[in-house]
Amino acid sequence: MTQLAATAPPEVRAQLDAKIAVLDGHRTAVGVKRGKINRELAFHFARQATDYAADAQAQLIAAEDLTTLETRGHGRVNNNRAAQSARRQAVAALAHTAAGIGITVVSVPARGSSAQCPGCDEPLARPGGYHTAWCSRCRVGGNRDHVAGVNLAKRALLGKRKVTRRRGQLPAIRVAEHAPVRRCRDKNGPTPRRPLHRRVRHSLPTVTPRMG
Ligand SMILES: [Zn+2]
Repeated sequence: MTQLAATAPPEVRAQLDAKIAVLDGHRTAVGVKRGKINRELAFHFARQATDYAADAQAQLIAAEDLTTLETRGHGRVNNNRAAQSARRQAVAALAHTAAGIGITVVSVPARGSSAQCPGCDEPLARPGGYHTAWCSRCRVGGNRDHVAGVNLAKRALLGKRKVTRRRGQLPAIRVAEHAPVRRCRDKNGPTPRRPLHRRVRHSLPTVTPRMG
């Protein structure tokens, strides 16, 4: 539109310039709004994850370091970057919120976390396609993201003594070690209780006396 305006006759040009100004304004407003939503989302996630960790009496939260993943092709690089910035914000918010109650967030390598069996470290089969994983030897498996969660937790716990700390970054574990993982909590029992959301008000609202 800017190019069109540059070559247009004066009165058309004025109209186009006015439209350009309106659109620029919208773009800025949408950008600001998106930023606010991202921030809110990040802290909402952080609050929930931290409450959950606190209730499970965890001292550590592992966050996958996605930079350890191999980048294939470059077609979707920009898409991916935009999504990563929201993710980074969420992890930063989590580190901040968790630190408030003494829980540390460490980054662990993400490579292969949903490809190997948490029990025997062998490659997992994908019987139902991409989203499920199964180890026929250990007879464990399920959703690949759940499997990845187990593997990431394993990496965090095994790497506990080999944490690299750098200013301005999360403490990081860079090696993925293996040790067999047993099955623990089944999903037949009740879910552990979660604390109430912080903003819940326990006091009664003060009553303003009616005038007259
Ligand atoms: Zn296995």
